[in-house]
Amino acid sequence: MSDSTVYLDHAASTPMLPGAIEAMTPYFSEVYANPSGSHRFARQARRAIDEARDDVAEVLGVRPNEVVFTSCGTESDNTAILGAVSRIGGVAVCAAAEHHAVLHVVEAVGGDIVPVDGFARIDVDALADLLDEHSAAGRNVAVVSVMAVNNEVGTVNDVAAVAAVVRRHAPGALVHTDAVQAPSWLDLRALTPHVDLLALSAHKFGGPKGVGILVERGGPRIDPLIIGGGQERERRSGTHNVAGIVAAATALRSTDSERATEIPRLIQLRDRLVGELVEQLDDVTETIPRAGGEFGVEKVAGSAHVCIGGIESEALLFLLDEADVCASAASACASGAMEPSHVLAAMGVDREVALGALRLSLGHASTEADVDRGIEAITSAVTRLRSHRPTRTTS
Ligand code: PLP
Repeated sequence: MSDSTVYLDHAASTPMLPGAIEAMTPYFSEVYANPSGSHRFARQARRAIDEARDDVAEVLGVRPNEVVFTSCGTESDNTAILGAVSRIGGVAVCAAAEHHAVLHVVEAVGGDIVPVDGFARIDVDALADLLDEHSAAGRNVAVVSVMAVNNEVGTVNDVAAVAAVVRRHAPGALVHTDAVQAPSWLDLRALTPHVDLLALSAHKFGGPKGVGILVERGGPRIDPLIIGGGQERERRSGTHNVAGIVAAATALRSTDSERATEIPRLIQLRDRLVGELVEQLDDVTETIPRAGGEFGVEKVAGSAHVCIGGIESEALLFLLDEADVCASAASACASGAMEPSHVLAAMGVDREVALGALRLSLGHASTEADVDRGIEAITSAVTRLRSHRPTRTTS
């Protein structure tokens, strides 16, 4: 990335926080022993993991022995769902707007997908009906998974309300939340008491790629996905990524303490970005109306998702890339595909409208200058694309 790059893709990955880089550095070439070893050098590495675990537990409001370090958010989600189905037996359930790290796993085990409303929030009544159906048929539900914050459009699910429905209609099921997009915006201490399992990914909150966290509340409730040397109290084998774990804990602590000041700063930047696009260009719709808007939908501060009429996102992203502006159409994993996003489809957004989707996402490194340059580049790219639109002729 050059100095002139405008990075509007924080939901895909955030730059590492300087404190996290500093914290991890000694663990590459100074404290490099395998933490599972028995010598004092190994114990030093093990202590670093223990301290990181304590820090993570404090930010999440859970006990340190409920924190499991994994390799990414995808692994945490996979472990939660496959581990629950394997241990408890029965059906896995998730919402239609989940990230593929959840959705594809639930589909792979023949689970059920619950519809979402026009804002990508799980339909709680449909969930209750589905759970009742399973109960009436004598089928067990192993796990219900609902994301805390949607990675494409930024809406917040009421996880506490969803969990209450699960406890009432399927008391034997575990509640999992994919909270990968949450740490910058939500106090996780308020979320964890409602769930049994919770997934995080360090590269979404200023930590490194290659470190995930799975919270397993109330002792081992699921089977492990990765079996081997018995690390993480048999819950996730494999040599620990000591440097990454130390950096993840540092980044999580810092994200937690900066959240209250970052949110108002980013709301102001986000609203200016979207407001200017809507004002300067015709036919631009903010996909989820502003937080606290007429529908009372809660949306995170960093999310600026718009649908732009008369253009295709692929072409727009190409021009933005040429202008050194990083954005995306759907989630990072899905960009490059011509199919419109499954999230927008689940929300009932018209296919034509969804083809003009643009996901802009802000984070801790975002500045006023990024917003200025983003507005300029997007308006000029859209104007250019629209001027090349074939004009329809009548004969
Ligand atoms: N869940 C959500 C909501 C995400 O946004 C992502 C990443 O985009 C993941 C899961 C996967 O996380 P990771 O990239 O660490 O595998």
